[in-house]
Amino acid sequence: MLAIISDVHGNLAALEAVLSDIQSRRVERIICLGDLVGYGPDPVECLVAARSFDLVLLGNHEEAVLTGAVDFNSRAEMAVNWTRQHLKNDAEAKEHMKFLRKLLTRCEEGNLSFVHGSPRDPTREYIYPGHARDTERMSEIFALIKHFCFVGHTHTPGVFTSEGEYVHPTALPAGVCVFHKDKALINVGSVGQPRDDDPRACYVTFDGDSAVFRRVKYDIKKTVKKIYETAELADSLGSRLLFGK
Ligand code: ZN
Repeated sequence: MLAIISDVHGNLAALEAVLSDIQSRRVERIICLGDLVGYGPDPVECLVAARSFDLVLLGNHEEAVLTGAVDFNSRAEMAVNWTRQHLKNDAEAKEHMKFLRKLLTRCEEGNLSFVHGSPRDPTREYIYPGHARDTERMSEIFALIKHFCFVGHTHTPGVFTSEGEYVHPTALPAGVCVFHKDKALINVGSVGQPRDDDPRACYVTFDGDSAVFRRVKYDIKKTVKKIYETAELADSLGSRLLFGK
């Protein structure tokens, strides 16, 4: 069984809670779809934890740390600049930058593909629930998918089908999606900054036939406090965590 996580965003309390949930299950491999850093107060700790994952992909926030922020709003850009500086000031700065530079933008394994945003534009394109009915967009995207494609980036979990459907996990029985022959695009949600009105950390386990969307409670206030204490991280980056916005 795979555990697929994404968008940790420097939220160590959320990552630790998810990793301990993963440990309680029969998970063989942990795959991270990028955005380990950015927004949150613990980028170093999250990068160090990710060294033990089986696969880590490049997200737009890692890309921004490496090459500069493009199309970021001002609070996101400030957070990226703070993250870069914070990593560079760390005793293991070289290792962190080496780790970031080695990240791949996509990975294919048999009929599975993994990417941060979209198979068309791995780190940049957002596939929002509202896009499900955009036939042209979705048929181009599905043409690039062998069978199952796992993405993150929007921080909104759910399943997209080639039939033009989007299903949020709350509309699935017990958050479980059983797949048949049709292709599917699965957004695994966000560990460290969920935006679907549920503040709990989100991730997915996948056994080849079914995906289970898992929600994990964590000490949100611990992360919020650290954000409030860091001048370069906007307070709103903390308060949004309380509401899953
Ligand atoms: Zn993200």
